[in-house]
Order: sequence, then structure tokens, then C-alpha cells
Amino acid sequence: MTTIASNLQGVRERIAQACASARRPVEDVTLLAVSKTFGPQAVREAVAAGQRRFGENYLQEAVDKISALRAWESEGLRQAHAAPTEWHCIGPIQSNKTRLVAEYFDWVHTVDRLKIAQRLSEQRPPGLAPLQVCLQVNVDGGANKSGVPPDEALALACAVAVLPRLTLRGLMTIPEPAPDAAAQRAVHARTRALFEAMAAQLPAGAVWDTLSMGMSADLEAAIDAGSTLVRVGTAIFGGRKPAAARP
Ligand SMILES: *Cc1c(COP(=O)(O)O)cnc(C)c1O
Repeated sequence: MTTIASNLQGVRERIAQACASARRPVEDVTLLAVSKTFGPQAVREAVAAGQRRFGENYLQEAVDKISALRAWESEGLRQAHAAPTEWHCIGPIQSNKTRLVAEYFDWVHTVDRLKIAQRLSEQRPPGLAPLQVCLQVNVDGGANKSGVPPDEALALACAVAVLPRLTLRGLMTIPEPAPDAAAQRAVHARTRALFEAMAAQLPAGAVWDTLSMGMSADLEAAIDAGSTLVRVGTAIFGGRKPAAARP
């Protein structure tokens, strides 16, 4: 078994254990494998080990990798019956880069301004399914952080929910690292409370089923607080080199 395959198995076991402790069915939690900084070969190894959903942060890198993977899949090397790979944009989006997101990705987790959402909706190619969207919320209030402030999240959600080429799915957060599991859980629980409070107030048409929170270090606390999608990089692919050390 490759390292990536055995790491994936370890992460799946952590998720199953966390679901059991939280008395939640394991099907409630989706694993997104965060492949940023790793090449197409690492993604292919994960695909061979049964993983289909991948998260990427850096647009040009992502576009090259998605193109390589799709070419590989369409050459018929993908295992028979296997679902195609699904790509999630989890990095910050500049307004001049929305077209690449609209054209290449299936999901985007980092919408925090209406202008970005409007551009994504306008630029989503007609032949593709609607782009699946989570709003990034700045739950712990870091002044320089991306994310809509919690008290503005409902207004943004109502505006995004009616855009024709997007499907609003839920919320995403990247909390500051917390000292222990209880502190991690407390921040995640605030996001969960916001998610539930918003559910009752959204216009018809929003599919409000996704709470994207939890990474390698805090996925147990996030699942305990109600996460439905964990974004895991390091625990699957290993440590990332700093940008300057990459080829
Ligand atoms: C890199 C990244 C992750 C994965 O983090 P790990 O700690 O490596 O699991 C998850 N979410 C976002 C938004 C990221 O940028």
C-alpha cells in the first residue's frame, strides 16, 4: 500500500471514530482531500485508493492539475464504475480570477462578498451544473482574515441564494489554531449555531446542507460540533514545503 493510501485509511478511521463518539452516522461527513502543493501523481494515488473529492487553494496550480487529472480520466485509466473527480476551491478568490473558478471547479467554499458570487454566476458555463457554494465566515473575528462577519452572513446568503448559476450549500470556516480540543470545539459550535439559525431564514431554493469545517489538526472537534465536510491535507499527503522551496 502506498503512503497516501495508508494515510487515507487512517483519516477515514479518525472520521469514523469521531462520528461514533458524536453519535452521528459516518455518511454525514464528507472527506475533502486537500492536494495543494502536491502534483497530479499524488492525486492519482489518492484516486486509486478510492478518494474522489479534492480541495485546491492556488488557482493556476489547480487549473493545471485538474486538466491533467481530467485528461487521465478521459483516457479511460479511471477504474470502471468510479465517479469522476470533484474539485473544490478553498483558497481566497480575487475578482479578476473568478472565471477560472467558474470554469474549472465543482464547488467553491470561500465566497465572502456578493460581487464575487455575482461574477461566478455570470461566468459559470451553461453546459456545467450550477457551481456549489459555501460562504466563508470569519467566526473568530481576526481583523485581516477573509470571511464575512457573522452578523452579515444572512444578508449575503439571501442574495447569493437567488443567483441563477449557483447553488448555496452552507458555511465554511478556518478558525485560528486553538490551544486544546475544548477551545477548538467552542469555535466550531458557534459556527454550527449560526448555520442553524440561518437555515430557517433562507429563501426557497437554497440547499443548506453543508458545514465545511475541520482540518488535519481539529477534525474530531469539528465533527463533534456538527461538521459535514472536513478538509484534510497534511494527514493525507504529508507536510507541505513553504512556497519558496517549491519548484
Ligand atoms: C490547506 C488547507 C486545509 C488543509 O489543512 P491541513 O492542516 O493540511 O489539513 C484545509 N482548509 C483550507 C482552507 C486550507 O487552506
